[in-house]
Amino acid sequence: MTSVATSIKLITREEAELKRNNAGSFAPQTCSTDLNLGPWEFDALADKLGMPTYGPGASMADVAPKETPRQGQLPQEYKDATDEELDQRILKAKEVLGDSVVVLGHFYQRDEVVKYADFVGDSFQLANAALTKPDAKAIVFCGVHFMAETADILSTPEQAVILPNLAAGCSMADMADIDSVEAAWAELEKVFGTEPDADGKVPVIPVTYMNSSAALKGFCGEHGGIVCTSSNAETVLTWAFERAQRVLFFPDQHLGRNTAKAMGVPLEQMPMWNPRKPLGGNTEGELQDSRVILWHGFCSVHKRFNVSQIEKARAEFPGVRVIVHPECPMEVVDAADEYGSTDYIRKAIAAATEPTTFAIGTEINLVNRLANEFPQHTIFCLDPVICPCSTMYRIHPGYLAWVLEGLVESEVRNQISVDPHVSATAKIALERMLAAKP
Ligand code: SF4
Repeated sequence: MTSVATSIKLITREEAELKRNNAGSFAPQTCSTDLNLGPWEFDALADKLGMPTYGPGASMADVAPKETPRQGQLPQEYKDATDEELDQRILKAKEVLGDSVVVLGHFYQRDEVVKYADFVGDSFQLANAALTKPDAKAIVFCGVHFMAETADILSTPEQAVILPNLAAGCSMADMADIDSVEAAWAELEKVFGTEPDADGKVPVIPVTYMNSSAALKGFCGEHGGIVCTSSNAETVLTWAFERAQRVLFFPDQHLGRNTAKAMGVPLEQMPMWNPRKPLGGNTEGELQDSRVILWHGFCSVHKRFNVSQIEKARAEFPGVRVIVHPECPMEVVDAADEYGSTDYIRKAIAAATEPTTFAIGTEINLVNRLANEFPQHTIFCLDPVICPCSTMYRIHPGYLAWVLEGLVESEVRNQISVDPHVSATAKIALERMLAAKP
């Protein structure tokens, strides 16, 4: 199976051809022919439009906040370089830098970037992997902004964390900003007060998903709260319910709902908090009855999966094992055979001893890589349209070559530095998560 980037090149060429021939529908398809363009086209577009965009891919329809970091123009030589030239330049720079640099590649990155990574994993695995390289002066994080922030929080002050393209954010993380969360918290304090009940439980504890800004992790650290990942969300919610009557969960409503539902919390006790409405769009009574208040956020990659895709997979492949990520909507998780984090999905496939057909509901780059890695199984993405994460897409080998060659010249490009106060409080919330036991 070819990589997603190569497939996109082939398919978009075919799409253009079919458009010229006025042809009808065909398969496979991409969600945007713009995916074939260099990500630098969208760095320039942000300046032209006077506002940032997430670029092509799953988050295309989401509106990027004004303050989204922007990436300056990549020098022309990196845009013009062939894949082979970039390959040689990256390998050369890595050789010169040796152990002074560690390159981290998220599961959802394109293969053309992942192949240079010293570690590949999910965001928290990667931040921890960096800790095993205390001699590395630079940590190049091929992922998105909140991941680089987490790596900066957990790394030593001597280490510089680098994000190859500053425009690689996360539309889900951007759906909960610190001002809106602070405003929501103030409203909740008015409704619930701040005094513990007779059992010593506080009215509400904030829980943030790892996929959130450092500022939100810091908010949780300061307000008795905690961070969770998609692997440990149930353990973290159990920890929170031991200390609080209810939880304010942000930014991903789906992870919060799927986890709490599996723990037996009724849907009626999980109101949604819409930051644009007074009391989040709820009555005081609804909030008083709540167990988990869900922030109105979602991942545009996982929102693409639906129940009809699962029905189609079951009709075409009797006996198929359907595994989806908990960022998928509840109906999709309910219709699947299993759900779990990227790490869970990988381990489930690795553990299958008989040749099996797997239909997977998560980002396409990971699904294709799993299909290549486990050729004894049939593995495909539930979504037939190739639509990668828009922000992961912003990292390209050209940017990686640019930041690595900068390091060779002793220049640190695109450093991500978290404010020391935010970093200290965010670390408290992360440490609570590490200490929480199932
Ligand atoms: S896959 Fe979803 S949650 Fe992950 S970086 Fe992309 S938009 Fe954010």
